[in-house]
Amino acid sequence: MGKMEGLVAIVTGASRGLGRAIAKEYAREGAKVAVCARPQSPTGLAGNVEETAGDIQAAGGEAFAVACDVADEAQVSEMVRQVLDRYGRIDVLVNNAGVMVLGESILEISPAQWDLSVAVNMRGPYLTCRAVLPAMRSQGRGSIVNIGSRMGSDHTRGGGVLYSASKAGLHMFSLTLAEEVREYNIAVNILSPGSLKSEGSAAIPWTQWDWAVRDLPEVVGPSAVYLALQDAQLFTGNLVSRAEFGKTWGL
Ligand code: NAP
Repeated sequence: MGKMEGLVAIVTGASRGLGRAIAKEYAREGAKVAVCARPQSPTGLAGNVEETAGDIQAAGGEAFAVACDVADEAQVSEMVRQVLDRYGRIDVLVNNAGVMVLGESILEISPAQWDLSVAVNMRGPYLTCRAVLPAMRSQGRGSIVNIGSRMGSDHTRGGGVLYSASKAGLHMFSLTLAEEVREYNIAVNILSPGSLKSEGSAAIPWTQWDWAVRDLPEVVGPSAVYLALQDAQLFTGNLVSRAEFGKTWGL
């Protein structure tokens, strides 16, 4: 039996990259997975939620593709309503949808890029958490996994003013939310996945310098499953690195 049998998980940004890998791993572990991404991706990159859900179903898993822009309040409410309608509960939320602006200076970053990154990387998790918390509270447990970055804690990593600031904001959002929802037995943790070979990072010229040593998104699966299984009595309010999984945490 899978480790996530009977659980319902929402994974945002599951049309490609890390989100798709986490959604597939959760489904392999027996979870029912709602996979979410924008109705029309403006990126031009390969992958969409129907494909991800189709791959999961073809492998014998349970998945539900939901179009949702996480920065849009009405779309987030509707997405959560649809998931509750279909599966009746929400045990796990993975805030993975993100925009990466790397290798650009403050003078190169436009106000529009700034607003989009902050909308997706910070407003998105705020809206999704706000939308799922009533269900998790009434269930008496839940786990929220926010995908952070070393660049959100270490300014020497090259994240730049926008990406690093947005991830730093997400980190502190997560840590404060963990305290706020502890009494409802809901865990909130931040997973820093390490440098990955995703479609999104492949499209950024800056990532080419360390491309050879980047990992495939699938390596994040087991650490993301471990975090999904936590509640506030077990493990909450932590910023953890995937590379340290099984070494300094998750033992
Ligand atoms: P990616 O390949 O660019 O994929 C990003 C995902 O986010 C896509 O599924 C995209 O879907 C979705 N997305 C973007 N804006 C959205 C919105 N407004 N609403 C809903 N979905 C949205 O990125 P990735 O490399 O897999 O990164 C995933 C997460 O890991 C991000 O939070 C990133 O910051 C973080 N991270 C990545 C790395 C790395 O090395 N790649 C390292 C550390 C942290 P659509 O475009 O189809 O909507």
